[in-house]
Amino acid sequence: MIEAIARRMSTEREALNRLDAALGDGDHGTNVAAGFSAAAADIGGLENPSASDLWLAMAKAVMNRMGGASGAIFGTFFLKGVAVLRGKDRLNKRDMEAVLEAGLQGVKARGKAEVGDKTMVDALAPAVTAFSRAGGFTEGWSSAAEAARKGAACTQDLIARHGRAKYLGERAIGHIDPGACTIAFLFEATDAWWREAQPIHKR
Ligand code: ADP
Ligand code: MG
Repeated sequence: MIEAIARRMSTEREALNRLDAALGDGDHGTNVAAGFSAAAADIGGLENPSASDLWLAMAKAVMNRMGGASGAIFGTFFLKGVAVLRGKDRLNKRDMEAVLEAGLQGVKARGKAEVGDKTMVDALAPAVTAFSRAGGFTEGWSSAAEAARKGAACTQDLIARHGRAKYLGERAIGHIDPGACTIAFLFEATDAWWREAQPIHKR
């Protein structure tokens, strides 16, 4: 799953940089592509990791190698999931809901952003709600991806209350928030990965 996300972020690097060039400093795609590649590489090197080991490695890689505001914020997202996963060697949907919910709360606490502030929270919050409402993983990942896409699209009409885009005031209107777009790509990649992997999970 993490490898699938890392590949998608590499594919979207320039598109995300362009979005960030309009609202910030143009490095968001470079940041997230580097952070998720580092995470995928680190995880590949772990021997028999538990779920919480994986999530901790993610958090560390993202915090240390993503850079930007997004490094701190994504790092918090994964770090908050570590405690939820501790002691579990299999994850059911409820567990994943708890991981995502803890991550969302961590992001909101860390960045002080609410829905409507034109940040990644605009995509992450509806995605987490959609995942939790769904009946299972398959429906969960696909409805999370759809909700994140819609949430990201809605950021176009907003002025920003956090991050570099805040300094643009009304000039931020008309541009999609890059971090929200990254969240949409993240859930889309997870959804696609899940649908491919599903026959294995059903065994
Ligand atoms: P930087 O702004 O330091 O260059 P990035 O370009 O990697 O970092 O990330 C920018 C993204 O970070 C924004 O598009 C936004 O989604 C997200 N972001 C910025 N500040 C906050 C915040 N306070 N809370 C949540 N997300 C934020
Ligand atoms: Mg930037």
